[in-house]
Amino acid sequence: MITNTPTAHIIDGIALSQKLRTDITARASALKARGITPGLAVILVGENPASQVYVRNKVKGCQDCGFHSVLEKFDATMAEAELLARIEALNNDPAIHGILVQLPVPKHIDANKVIEAISPLKDVDGFHIASAGALMTGMPGFWPCTPYGCMKMLESIGYDLKGKHAVVIGRSNIVGKPMALMLLQKNATVTICHSATKDLKAFTLQADVIVAAVGKRDVVTADMVKPGAVVLDVGMNRNDEGKLCGDVDFEGVRQVAGYITPVPGGVGPMTITMLLMNTLEAAERAAI
Ligand code: NAP
Repeated sequence: MITNTPTAHIIDGIALSQKLRTDITARASALKARGITPGLAVILVGENPASQVYVRNKVKGCQDCGFHSVLEKFDATMAEAELLARIEALNNDPAIHGILVQLPVPKHIDANKVIEAISPLKDVDGFHIASAGALMTGMPGFWPCTPYGCMKMLESIGYDLKGKHAVVIGRSNIVGKPMALMLLQKNATVTICHSATKDLKAFTLQADVIVAAVGKRDVVTADMVKPGAVVLDVGMNRNDEGKLCGDVDFEGVRQVAGYITPVPGGVGPMTITMLLMNTLEAAERAAI
């Protein structure tokens, strides 16, 4: 028997990133013509292998777009006061428009103190309380890069969120909560689910848009998705073969969903692209 199996459109985060980075490079070059080169400072404390890969990719992204970038690596024993002093120096450095401290920091350093030490004008990760407050109240500010990238992905498929039901799974300060606020700002009706949610499937089955930001494999399976829904997979996990995978059962869900993001090649590349966008915008604002 021949079955006509519907297959979701793939939202390609690599292709969309390339398109956006072309625009970012052009805007950076226009700014350079006015004597301002967008500058990002990335601080890494300690030897976390995943963090080393992330910071390398962020610095490379800067170089590819013609930005100035500095990578400052410090020993895991660095004192909190020393890190705060370094951030203060970068706050006052006119060549630096964005400051990013790669998280997690070693246990003896208070991550909240570090985030709040970054000037809100240079908070290109969008984690400062001032940035969170700006997002909450609809004021201009920096949006956290991962949910911002998800919004760009929805925009890229021309998706109108007005009146749609979006279900966000996960409520972290860096992904779930800002994601919900961004969707709300675009007039979606938003439900936030988390580890204490009873009957997750009852919520996801009602969703026009699902954003999975949990960090566990197969949190979303085909039986939990309404036909035609848009499924954005933020999760980064390893499968039994050690390969990168998301929170969504990609092969199953793509048979039901209308659009889906793959892992790898989906939300991940968009995160760095939105960091570059935020850095560019910080430089453009400083140039006014
Ligand atoms: P997090 O801080 O650990 O938050 C995970 C959230 O998932 C929490 O709110 C937790 O609920 C919820 N949760 C846990 N188990 C659940 C379950 N069974 N059902 C429903 N909700 C559940 O993680 P995060 O920083 O937001 O990151 C989430 C994932 O995205 C991770 O895999 C991370 O690696 C990935 N990530 C990817 C990118 C990227 O660029 N692609 C960027 C950032 C993060 P509680 O609040 O109740 O504990």
